[in-house]
Amino acid sequence: MRYSPRETHRELREQLGVFALGHGDAEERATVRSHLNKCAACRGELSELAKVVALLAAVGPANLRQV
Ligand SMILES: [Zn+2]
Repeated sequence: MRYSPRETHRELREQLGVFALGHGDAEERATVRSHLNKCAACRGELSELAKVVALLAAVGPANLRQV
């Protein structure tokens, strides 16, 4: 797959959630990581997502209904 930088950015933003959850295959994760090295906007987005993921992990799926 070949993307222009703009398309890469858009695709990567869609994958950030998966990445933040620790999902995706090795190739996808490597692609996300290399984009993060070049893209401050995605790094910021990922740090926001990481906070949400940490929050969800702390709450636990069983407790989500009460939130
Ligand atoms: Zn980006």
